[in-house]
Amino acid sequence: MKAIRVHEFGGPEVLKLEEVPTPKSDAGQVLVKVHAAGVNPYDTYMRAGTYAIKPPLPYTPGSDAAGEVEAVGSGVTKVKPGDRVYTAKTLTGAYAEYTLTLEEQAQKLPASITFDQGAAIWVPYGTAYHALKQEAKGRAGETVLVHGASGGVGSAAVQIARAEGLTVFGTAGTDKGLDLVKREGAHQAFNHTKAGYTDEIMKATGGRGVDIILEMLANVNLAADLKMLAMYGRVIIIGNRGEITINPRDLMSRRASARGFTLWALTEAETKEIHAGVYAGLENGTLRPVVGREIPLAEAARAHKEVLAPGSHGKIILVP
Ligand code: NAP
Repeated sequence: MKAIRVHEFGGPEVLKLEEVPTPKSDAGQVLVKVHAAGVNPYDTYMRAGTYAIKPPLPYTPGSDAAGEVEAVGSGVTKVKPGDRVYTAKTLTGAYAEYTLTLEEQAQKLPASITFDQGAAIWVPYGTAYHALKQEAKGRAGETVLVHGASGGVGSAAVQIARAEGLTVFGTAGTDKGLDLVKREGAHQAFNHTKAGYTDEIMKATGGRGVDIILEMLANVNLAADLKMLAMYGRVIIIGNRGEITINPRDLMSRRASARGFTLWALTEAETKEIHAGVYAGLENGTLRPVVGREIPLAEAARAHKEVLAPGSHGKIILVP
């Protein structure tokens, strides 16, 4: 099969399309014929060798694939050949024509969800669901600011929060991104490149502040976020690419909190809850993964450049 291989950590050019043996499903494993693979920002940090997790070289990137079950190993009962599935992590990497998963990493795809959309589920929706429901414990009637709502995680968070009865504010950096944020359910959208936009957000809350902020770029925004919180507000740090100085008094005076997480550290119980909640939302139509761009697998290097560039509008998907 064809697969993207990384033999050394470095820039996007280290992503090479190669011919490798197709994996075989042993006991408890599922072989998936990949129709689409999701590109996540962490794929680029891992490729650069700067991420907390450094895979042994060579490796094939990607945790989010969608496709059809090609074969299952002994003992697998959850899925059978021909089933449509998406993956939540893999054993052999998603950027390939086939990927091998553990039985628990293969999740059924509702009939209404395309393979492209299926490749936009695990990291984006798993992260958004965990941040809003399991970390922030967001409740109907609260106000959430999705700070960076035009990308994969942000658009998922907007849909989940809207379906749960929160008042949803979202930000983006372009008109196309702002349109997407509103279309996916934000009550109001703000441009995070515009001077004074945080004042506009405060004004939209009547000066009270927001209850929850889901933060995609904490190294830029955390200090300002703390000043936008209502009493007992919570900032959930999802994305961060550097350091920032904050004034802890902004937390003290609001009895507020800022906390972070990584998707890798979720418990089995949290993961099970996420899969059940996300499946229900996909099935009933409240969750609709937004695919922005399809790029051929051979051009994975271009996808890695584009995923870090401004102007997000949904997910970037690789097609084998
Ligand atoms: P993505 O699809 O590339 O989207 C990036 C988002 O950040 C876009 O909405 C972008 O808006 C926005 N952004 C850019 N500049 C911003 C600013 N100054 N303030 C606020 N937002 C800004 O990426 P993603 O998949 O949604 O992931 C978002 C971040 O979360 C990444 O850093 C990723 O590594 C991280 N993440 C962490 C976890 C975890 O486990 N903690 C899991 C998944 C993702 P425009 O392009 O419209 O400007």
